[in-house]
Amino acid sequence: MMISPTQLLISYLRIPTTGKSTADHDGRCVMCGGHYAVGDPCEAWKPTASFTDFADLQNPWGTHVCGACLAVNARGKDFMQDYTKSIVCKGGVFGFFSNDAVAHWLVNPPEPPYLAFISTQKLGHIAWKAPVNLSRERMVVRYNDKTLVIRRAHLLESIEAAKALSEAKIADEIAKAAEKKGKKIGRPTAFRAPVRLEREMENPESGALAPWVDEIAAGDPALMRAAHTLRSATVGEIWGLTHILYAKTPGSELKLKPGA
Ligand SMILES: [Zn+2]
Repeated sequence: MMISPTQLLISYLRIPTTGKSTADHDGRCVMCGGHYAVGDPCEAWKPTASFTDFADLQNPWGTHVCGACLAVNARGKDFMQDYTKSIVCKGGVFGFFSNDAVAHWLVNPPEPPYLAFISTQKLGHIAWKAPVNLSRERMVVRYNDKTLVIRRAHLLESIEAAKALSEAKIADEIAKAAEKKGKKIGRPTAFRAPVRLEREMENPESGALAPWVDEIAAGDPALMRAAHTLRSATVGEIWGLTHILYAKTPGSELKLKPGA
């Protein structure tokens, strides 16, 4: 039986299920889709007037909310806000927002099952909306209302592709300056981003290739492959690449709270 995101969260944090009543039938939670059995804590599903996340319900035809979702909801806003940008895995809950933290977890995903989610909005809990990750090779990150898919192999290829294209662009700039002025210029040190890098993914051009890429890559099979790698990256992979290229010391992720 597959574990739901909320059930996974409370099991890793060792939080007991709760609820004003117990189930008189086996069923699946309206919110997280997790199973509950006869006798398990649960409550009839009654969305509050302010609830609008109907499209996220994992089992919209269900009748009850499970004791795991109730336990999380009962902990209130402070608890929820402590866990809005997190990796939830066997070792505990880890920060997942700074460039360094995101870079670390995308390159070194935790042992499955695990959750990866980021909420930048002051809304309710996001954990119940996060798909349970069952693979280290394909990570799904819940980012506000988006679901980002990151294939680890393609992400690693994209890092190398971006670096190779940047190097080629810098070499081209040096060559062109030499032609123009007839003298050598110092090697530019800034990375030349071959793709529009953005953490928030709110610009229509996020993830677009820089206009110089095709010209630089023309005639060079390795660079043409690199451009193709970036062009065939998912939105999530470009999002991940952004953090990795901006990371100063990947791996210095902040441990919020260890698993009990
Ligand atoms: Zn639930």
